[in-house]
Amino acid sequence: MYFTEEQLAFRDGIRRMVERHVAPIAAEIDENRRFPAELVPIYGDMGLLQLWVPEKYGGPEGNLTLVCMAREEIARASASCALLAGINTMFIMPLMHFGTEEQRQRFLPIVAKGRSMTAVAISEPEAGSDVGAMSTRAVKDGDSYVINGKKQWCTFGDVADYITLYAKTGNRSGFDDISAFIIEPKKMKGVTFGRHERKMGYRGSPNVPIYLDNVRVPAENLVGEEGMGFKASMRSLDLNRPTIGAVAVGLAQGAMDVAIAYAKQRRQFKRAIAEFQGIQFMLADMAMQTEAARALVYECASAGDRGDWERLSPLASMAKCFASDTAMKVTTDAVQVLGGYGYVQDFPVERMMRDAKLNQIFEGTNQIQRVIISRHLLA
Ligand SMILES: Cc1cc2nc3c(=O)[nH]c(=O)nc-3n(C[C@H](O)[C@H](O)[C@H](O)COP(=O)(O)OP(=O)(O)OC[C@H]3O[C@@H](n4cnc5c(N)ncnc54)[C@H](O)[C@@H]3O)c2cc1C
Repeated sequence: MYFTEEQLAFRDGIRRMVERHVAPIAAEIDENRRFPAELVPIYGDMGLLQLWVPEKYGGPEGNLTLVCMAREEIARASASCALLAGINTMFIMPLMHFGTEEQRQRFLPIVAKGRSMTAVAISEPEAGSDVGAMSTRAVKDGDSYVINGKKQWCTFGDVADYITLYAKTGNRSGFDDISAFIIEPKKMKGVTFGRHERKMGYRGSPNVPIYLDNVRVPAENLVGEEGMGFKASMRSLDLNRPTIGAVAVGLAQGAMDVAIAYAKQRRQFKRAIAEFQGIQFMLADMAMQTEAARALVYECASAGDRGDWERLSPLASMAKCFASDTAMKVTTDAVQVLGGYGYVQDFPVERMMRDAKLNQIFEGTNQIQRVIISRHLLA
C-alpha cells in the first residue's frame, strides 16, 4: 500500500501506543472479559476515539483512511481494542450527514474532547438482518418523544455516554418510518441494560441488551427529520464497514506475524518447520490473501474520502466481506501452523481466530453483504 509520510507518521504513533498500552493487556482483557476503560483517555489524548470529528467542532478531522489505518494497526494486537478507535463513526455520521447544524454544535465539541463513549442500537431480538422489522416505537408527546422497546447486542451500550438509537415513528412497515434519536443512557430515566453477552471472542468489548421503558427524549434529540433513520444508518454503515474490514486485515496480519516467527523457530524432523514446503505454501497463501484484503479496504477508504457514495456502498460491503472471510481463513491457518500450540492460550492465534469470526457476522452478516453487492450489480 502507498501511504503519505504524514499517514506513516500517524501509523508509527499508533504502533508505539499499541506496544506500550494494548499488547500487554490483550490476553488479559480476553481472559477476564474486561472492558479496558484505561484506554479511553489514552486514545482520547491521541485523538483516536474522536478521529472523525471535524476541526470546526474541535476534533482532529480524520478520514476513513486514517480510521482504517488505526483499526488495522491496533487489531494486530487486539480486535476488541481496535473497535475503540474511531468509535464514534455510527454516532457522528448521522449527525454530519443528516443532523442539523444546531445538533452538531451541541454534541460534536463534547465528543471532540476525547472522553465520550458512544454506541449504536439498531438490532432487536426479532430484527437482525431485517432491520425494517424493528418494533421499538417513539411516539411524539408535546416537545418530546416517548420510546418503548428492546434493543439487542449493543456494543459498548452500558459504558456509552450517548447512544444513537433507531425506532419507528409511524405505523408503516419497512424502512420509511425509522428515525434516529440520541439517547443519553446515564441521564435519561427508563433506560436499563441486561446482562453482558458471553461471547466466543471480542471479549474486551461489552455487549448488552437495552430495555426502554417510557424513555422521554427531547424532540431536539431526533437526528434530522422523522423517517430519515434508515438512510442515516446505511450511510453510517457504508463508512463503518470498511473499518471492520481493516480490523480483519489487522487480525490476519497479527496472526501471520506469529505464524512466521513460530515456523522459523519450531523444529521437527531436525529442521525448522519453515523449511517444509507445506508450511511455506500456507504462509504464501496467507500473505497473498491478506494483501488483497488490505488493497480492497484502502481502495474503499479512498472512495469514502473522495465522497464518492455510489462507489463506496458496494465497495464497503466487498471490503468488509472479503477481509473478514480472509481473516477467518488466515487466523485458522495460523493456528494450523502452530499445531497443538496454536490451539491453546499460550499463543495469541486462538484468540485471533475467535475474534475473526465476529467480523463475518456483525455490521450486517456476510450473506447480507453479498445481497447488497449483487443488488448493485443487477440494478
Ligand atoms: C458481538 C455482536 C456485536 C453487535 N453489535 C451491535 C451493535 O452495537 N448495534 C447493533 O445494532 N447491532 C449489533 N449487533 C447485531 C448484528 O449486526 C446482528 O447480529 C446481525 O446483523 C445479524 O442479525 P441476527 O444475529 O439477528 O441474525 P439473522 O438476521 O437472524 O440471521 C441468521 C442467519 O440468516 C442469514 N440471513 C438472514 N437474512 C438473509 C438473507 N436475506 N439472505 C441470506 N441469508 C440471510 C444470516 O446471514 C445469518 O447467517 C452485534 C452482534 C454481535 C453478535
